[in-house]
Amino acid sequence: MPQLAQRVGRAKPSAIMVIAEKAKQLKAAGRDIISFSIGVPNFLPGEHVYAAARESLSHDSGQYGSNRGAEALLDAFLKHIEALGFSGYTRMNLSIGIGAKHVLYNLAEALLDEGDEICFAAPYWTTYHDIADIVGAKTNVMHCGAEQNYKLTPSQLDTALARKPKVFLFNNPSNPTGMVYTGEEIAALAEVLVKHPDTWVITDDIYNSMVFDGLGYHNFVFARPELRERVIFVDSVSKTYGMPGWRVGLIAGPEVVAKAITTLNSNHITSLPEVITAAAVAALSGPQDIPQAKCKEFAGKRDTVFAALSAIPGVICPRPQGAFYAFPDISVAFGKSHNGVKINSDVEFCAALLEAKGVACVPGSAFGEPRALRISYTCPTAQLAPGLARIAEFFAELS
Ligand code: PLP
Repeated sequence: MPQLAQRVGRAKPSAIMVIAEKAKQLKAAGRDIISFSIGVPNFLPGEHVYAAARESLSHDSGQYGSNRGAEALLDAFLKHIEALGFSGYTRMNLSIGIGAKHVLYNLAEALLDEGDEICFAAPYWTTYHDIADIVGAKTNVMHCGAEQNYKLTPSQLDTALARKPKVFLFNNPSNPTGMVYTGEEIAALAEVLVKHPDTWVITDDIYNSMVFDGLGYHNFVFARPELRERVIFVDSVSKTYGMPGWRVGLIAGPEVVAKAITTLNSNHITSLPEVITAAAVAALSGPQDIPQAKCKEFAGKRDTVFAALSAIPGVICPRPQGAFYAFPDISVAFGKSHNGVKINSDVEFCAALLEAKGVACVPGSAFGEPRALRISYTCPTAQLAPGLARIAEFFAELS
């Protein structure tokens, strides 16, 4: 029998989906399950988005579209990123993909040859490692634990870049930690980046609309505009507009990179569908009241989650300031037992918590940090306090 390509063997099924699946099964079996496991925004886009999609259908050309993205979409994205603080970009700096995940995969194909090095901080979004593995890149993971608020320091970055990696992949606000870098922290990292001209920099900042406490969104190019020739900003409509299923991702970066992604699109996907494009244009250029309201709501939920987790003896939870995740260090539980079930790892902790209390969280090892777990707090508000109370109860019952 013929063999699959080696790169397929390097790809692992998502650990997040494994927990979500188990939670679904328990629910179907009649258990009362509260899911903190999956990172979907849990709201729908405004009516103007659906109206634009319907209107587009009424004069659909049925044709292939632009590999780079329709002009209307590129122009809407240009305006959108200008409002974020990016200036001087043109359509030639932009391209699109079927969600940010696809864009990131295309960037890996465009920037990394087999054996090239990519560095990123842990905790990291699971897919970073998988994409690197699929394209055969070497990974250098910079460990950033709870004791440093899960944030990369300039000296860690300097050490990693001294190895001359081809790509540095950065994520702000962070999935899974909810951490946000301040303007000063971004400027300090940008100082390091300018010293290492051989490395491309990808900033996966798809949670940029969900920043709390007045911190604002910052990018390396705001601090050091000369980095524009190496920085690729990745965005998506998924989390900002409650449109994960619509699958629209976008980049703004050097022309040569935008062109490479466009060429890959011409060979992979050709174009985005017209109706999807119309919806994305409406989301990007229409009223921004829903994302703004959601940001406020998530900040309030963050307060609830942070207070509850911080009150559990031994649990260390750096205070999240963006996205909709918290990432407590729960290693105080290791070596203890719950109702006779021994807990020696994050995976065993999450399995026991789900079984005993019906609360689904994702083990931190899925994100390169096995001392923690991820809580996604996009569930209905009414489930939040009961879910957190069950976690506290679980800890109190450990012996
Ligand atoms: N980047 C990060 C940090 C994410 O958390 C996600 C989705 O969870 C993505 C990218 C992918 O987003 P999209 O839905 O646009 O593919």
